[in-house]
Amino acid sequence: MAASGARRVGVVGAGIVGVCAASWLQRDGNSVFLVEPGNPGEGASFGNAGCFNGSSITPMAMPGVIRNVPRWLLDPLGPLSLRWSYLPSILPYLVRFVGSATPDKARAQAKALRPLVGPTLPLIRDLARDAGAEDLIHQRGHLYVYRSAEALAKDGFAWALRRDNGVVVDEFDADELRQLEPALSRDYVRGLLVRENGHTENPLGLVTRLVDEFRRRGGEIVRARALGFHLDGRRLIAIRTDAGDHPADAAIICAGAQSKPLAAALGDRVPLETERGYHLMIRDPEVMPRIPTADADGKFVATPMAEGLRFAGTVELAGLAAPPDWRRSRILLAQGRKMLPGLAADYPDAADPDRRISMWMGHRPSLPDSLPALGRSRASPDVILAFGHGHVGMTAAPMTGRIVADLVAGRPASIDIAPFDPGRFA
Ligand SMILES: Cc1cc2nc3c(=O)[nH]c(=O)nc-3n(C[C@H](O)[C@H](O)[C@H](O)COP(=O)(O)OP(=O)(O)OC[C@H]3O[C@@H](n4cnc5c(N)ncnc54)[C@H](O)[C@@H]3O)c2cc1C
Repeated sequence: MAASGARRVGVVGAGIVGVCAASWLQRDGNSVFLVEPGNPGEGASFGNAGCFNGSSITPMAMPGVIRNVPRWLLDPLGPLSLRWSYLPSILPYLVRFVGSATPDKARAQAKALRPLVGPTLPLIRDLARDAGAEDLIHQRGHLYVYRSAEALAKDGFAWALRRDNGVVVDEFDADELRQLEPALSRDYVRGLLVRENGHTENPLGLVTRLVDEFRRRGGEIVRARALGFHLDGRRLIAIRTDAGDHPADAAIICAGAQSKPLAAALGDRVPLETERGYHLMIRDPEVMPRIPTADADGKFVATPMAEGLRFAGTVELAGLAAPPDWRRSRILLAQGRKMLPGLAADYPDAADPDRRISMWMGHRPSLPDSLPALGRSRASPDVILAFGHGHVGMTAAPMTGRIVADLVAGRPASIDIAPFDPGRFA
């Protein structure tokens, strides 16, 4: 691999990760093309909560999380659901997940994630500025709200992990919370505000403008599905797609939750799963928080978006192929109404021509230790894996893209990427 200089680089997948990677690669003077069968930004990067939270460093597999699972699964409004027919397929993932839920591992994971996600806001603003998309990004912080001091105490380890890694947190009691966000239910008695965090009011709009800028700078979009790679020994020759071969000196796999077969084609066995998530949006809501607000118990976020109020969250384990279960979105409405009692009692359902609500399901690309796969393929140093960012893909994308550009240029990555080694599960 040449140490530097212009190379032809193919980026597989035009979600937020691929588009950030393509943008940084272009800034290095590479000739870059994105391979994408659909419209850029319409995968998981479309319907998420839009948060760029540098404080999001606690893994999903937190110590003690398993104790909550039966309660969550039994609660029809709960944050987790499992399609039992999918259990045999996901069992190996769950075994690794449980193995990851120790205090020491959680500490190591948080420490590894902080440099990846911490600089998210300055980095995404840097890209957004060039793309004329700065108006889509806001820094109002992120608010986590609790219904009791006991509930907050249960999250003590998570907050300690954040603080230990340099996250500054402001605490609010019930009265202060009311002043900060008057629309919130009076059931909330504690609020923790992380001011360093930000959000986009339009995730799809952000990706679209970054892609427009990528095109303006000479980037190319190849409308195709990548199928694999042609190697000559360990050297990459071309990306194979359903629309023919595309010669490339380097390739980046960032096809989100669909990256697994592409990595496997090169012998990289990564236990990628989808944690399906849902959103429900209300156009012209009666009330809207100013700050993106997470209900710590319900595990969902209410984000003020340009087109309305978005409730996003929950996890459904059911694989890539199963159709959406729209009851999961409806649950978010029930939960959201408890958070913001000023919302209407009901909204016309989706069939109503004047509907004000819309629903969405998407695939978080997740690995059992909540860390991405980010590094070179074992088969070829020219192919870089950059997927598996799970719940923090928006947040981690800007730095991931920078690291991808470093690796392609042969520069040392600006942060320690050893914890993200795609081979760590072998
Ligand atoms: C409900 C919910 C809320 C979330 N909230 C947040 C949040 O607030 N903050 C945050 O940081 N993260 C959040 N996330 C996570 C975040 O959305 C994802 O981690 C992130 O969008 C993943 O980006 P990606 O580019 O890896 O994948 P995607 O956006 O899914 O993009 C992958 C792209 O690859 C393409 N592709 C697939 N297969 C191929 C192929 N063979 N060849 C070529 N292209 C292919 C797809 O068409 C797609 O366009 C949330 C997720 C969900 C579901």
